[in-house]
Amino acid sequence: MSTLWLSHPQAIFTGTGADSDGSAAGGVVVDTAAGTIVELVGSGTRPTTPPDETYDASAHVVIPGLINTHHHFYQTLTRAWAPVVNVPLFPWLVNLYPVWARLTPRALELATTVAMAELLRSGCTTAADHHYLFPDGMEDSIDIQVAAARALGMRATLTRGSMTLGTKDGGLPPQSTVQDPDVILADSQRLIDTYHERGDGALIQIALAPCSPFSVTTRIMSDSAELAAANDVRLHTHLAETIDEEDFCRERFGMRTVEYLDSVGWLTSRTWLGHGIHFDDDEIARLGAAGTAVAHCPTSNMRLASGICRAVELEDAGVPVGLGVDGSASNDASNMILEVRQAMYLQRLRYGAEKVTTERALGWATKGSARALGRSDVGELAPGKQADLAMFRLDDLRFSGSHDPLAALLLCGADRADRVMIGGTWRVTDSEIVGLDVPALIAEHSELARALVAG
Ligand SMILES: [Zn+2]
Repeated sequence: MSTLWLSHPQAIFTGTGADSDGSAAGGVVVDTAAGTIVELVGSGTRPTTPPDETYDASAHVVIPGLINTHHHFYQTLTRAWAPVVNVPLFPWLVNLYPVWARLTPRALELATTVAMAELLRSGCTTAADHHYLFPDGMEDSIDIQVAAARALGMRATLTRGSMTLGTKDGGLPPQSTVQDPDVILADSQRLIDTYHERGDGALIQIALAPCSPFSVTTRIMSDSAELAAANDVRLHTHLAETIDEEDFCRERFGMRTVEYLDSVGWLTSRTWLGHGIHFDDDEIARLGAAGTAVAHCPTSNMRLASGICRAVELEDAGVPVGLGVDGSASNDASNMILEVRQAMYLQRLRYGAEKVTTERALGWATKGSARALGRSDVGELAPGKQADLAMFRLDDLRFSGSHDPLAALLLCGADRADRVMIGGTWRVTDSEIVGLDVPALIAEHSELARALVAG
């Protein structure tokens, strides 16, 4: 055991309520060898056992590492691309699919590193990615992403996505980007067997993720649900993002989105859904009863004018609500702490300021997101949990004159963590990612992004 006391932060958000009664005011003690939290230190007290090291956190606000539940890392190659800057989801997709179909292994490797690095610097310690593009030559996409996540030391839920319904069968994606269901299922099993870690402290987890109702067949939906249950891994897809999608489901399947989800065996607590905007009262109750989770993606929903997720009603109904930045072609930033701010403000428009507190918004990005990913070992600062945390300084111009440090983090728009720890190891110090050459990464990633768009 090797202990480090992060002492006397300006404020701490534990996600458990221990922050509000002062029982964590003295900071947190982590066992850096085991990678877990061993103690919260009360106001005016010291750790029960003298720590091996002490870090003076008096300039910092400490929060659990943020958890991103929905992304498409490869899309960092097509940020702010002029043809899709001012359009909604369906034309946005139809314009982008042919560009994405040219993805290369090296471009995906760099795009994954860029997205995760950006997330990490914003205080994120666990990230889910939804990768559903496997054109010829990209069969090893998830293997590439596993290696990139391991190199950064971030926790990742990498989803083996899929598309099976091409334009020739009435779907939206071009035929060259869809795959045979047997190939998808065999590769899903291979990835689970090779990479999926179980239990507390897992770094890499695999989930199964057919892309959306308008890009996959019902068969791959139900087969994926069966395979996920047999292997005890999670299920992810886009659902109820737009009215266009709802119309598609009515016309093709003769039912609304949640009914469709149920019909293919997905209305379970194993599932988390990207977006989840257009649900009626009955659907919210059904999702809550099933324990199906929702990844709220406020910036993307505003960018594509998709609608406002009914996050508070979903949560009140029993739905685990997490946050996601969504893919970089519709956000276009991978900044989790700014996404918490966006979520708080967007949801205030629907529910009012009193109901959507800073603590509630931070709760979505931490414990709520952890539940969406099926994890109980991260998302809170408490003894026994993983030592995943983010520390922000408040000495920048934007915070000058602020009073409540935790509120200032969101209200004044913190955008970059000073230090980030994952499993007891510092991955960000002085706002820089340990061991990553960011200028070199930007140079090559930008060059490949230009080449991808040029064709
Ligand atoms: Zn998405």
